[in-house]
Amino acid sequence: MIYLDYQSTTPVDKRVLEKMLPYFSEKFANVHSNHFFGEEVKDDVENARHEIAVTINAEDKEIIFTSGATESNNIALKGIFNYYKNKKNHIISSTIEHKCVLESLKYLETNCNAEITLINPDKNGIISPDKIEAAIKTNTLMISIMAVNNEIGTIQDLEAIGKIAKKYDVLFHSDAAQAIGKIDIDVKKFGIDLLSISGHKIYGPKGIGALYVSTSPKRIRLVPLFSGGGQERNFRSGTLPVPLCVGIGEAIKIAQSEMQQDNENALNLRNLFLEILCKNLKGVHVNGSLEHRVPQNLNLAFEGIESESLIFALEDIALTSVSACSSEKLESSYVLHAIGVPDELSHASFRISFGRFSTKDEVIYTADKIIKVVNNLRSISPLWNN
Ligand SMILES: *Cc1c(COP(=O)(O)O)cnc(C)c1O
Repeated sequence: MIYLDYQSTTPVDKRVLEKMLPYFSEKFANVHSNHFFGEEVKDDVENARHEIAVTINAEDKEIIFTSGATESNNIALKGIFNYYKNKKNHIISSTIEHKCVLESLKYLETNCNAEITLINPDKNGIISPDKIEAAIKTNTLMISIMAVNNEIGTIQDLEAIGKIAKKYDVLFHSDAAQAIGKIDIDVKKFGIDLLSISGHKIYGPKGIGALYVSTSPKRIRLVPLFSGGGQERNFRSGTLPVPLCVGIGEAIKIAQSEMQQDNENALNLRNLFLEILCKNLKGVHVNGSLEHRVPQNLNLAFEGIESESLIFALEDIALTSVSACSSEKLESSYVLHAIGVPDELSHASFRISFGRFSTKDEVIYTADKIIKVVNNLRSISPLWNN
């Protein structure tokens, strides 16, 4: 079996797992207890927090542990809105955000009188900072733009967006679940006030994430989603899951220190894969900009096929079709729709993502098998007449 779907999740790195294991048994204490047992693990959780902070150039106290990027995004959007809504109620975001951002915004719009503007990217998948600037109004509270897209891997110009946010005194949140370990993020330099991080996208465990909430130059306030014991600066109540905290800390440390080598490996594999495919098949399209995208991602369309059939026929290779199958009809990806990919090509698209443990052999095997399957599918396809 070959796994080429690292953007939906990653396996826990063995080094991360090793580091986590003692905290399930011997070091089981509640970090919020003041006795010896609690103190012992407290340092380890704080070290993990520090690893997250240094990776994005934040202060330790600006990092809040959450259950994942979904929760971080919910806190960032709903928590900020609820705190500041009487002053400003307009949020600018984009049409290619992750569902947890789009659904949070829809919730605020439907139930809380929020005014939402979603910016469409260009055909390359890039969100223009100029369009964001043009959308700013006197009641604009926040801009929320993802760092790296999960379907097409495109990288947004966070620094330019941060400058605009600062110019108009608007808060800036970014979903960086797909960016950590792939691009450098400096929250101070980029002018980011809130940043969402996920453990399981960076070879850490599932069920843990982090939210950076700036304390300077502006001290950001928010209304927490959970009522409880007031942990995590009262932004996120609940007993910290120590093994998971230690895990995400180790994962982010490795992801940052091995970023160059991870990126080089992914880029070599992606180039090889594309080269084999384009040499052997006609009608191959890359969705979104190849240049402004992380090396781990490729989103391709093959004319004349349905990606569902391709993925089904690939049996022992895990990729993801970007057209999510809803109950009856085949719905095409909203991200591909937003960058103007026509429906028939969207249905012929899939995402492949290379990761830390991907090998040349896997990539060659996959490319060869895709060529065979695509040729087979095309030979029986009414959509293909070349
Ligand atoms: C995976 C992902 C999320 C959700 O993260 P979880 O930790 O699984 O909740 C949010 N945004 C993006 C861009 C993602 O890729």
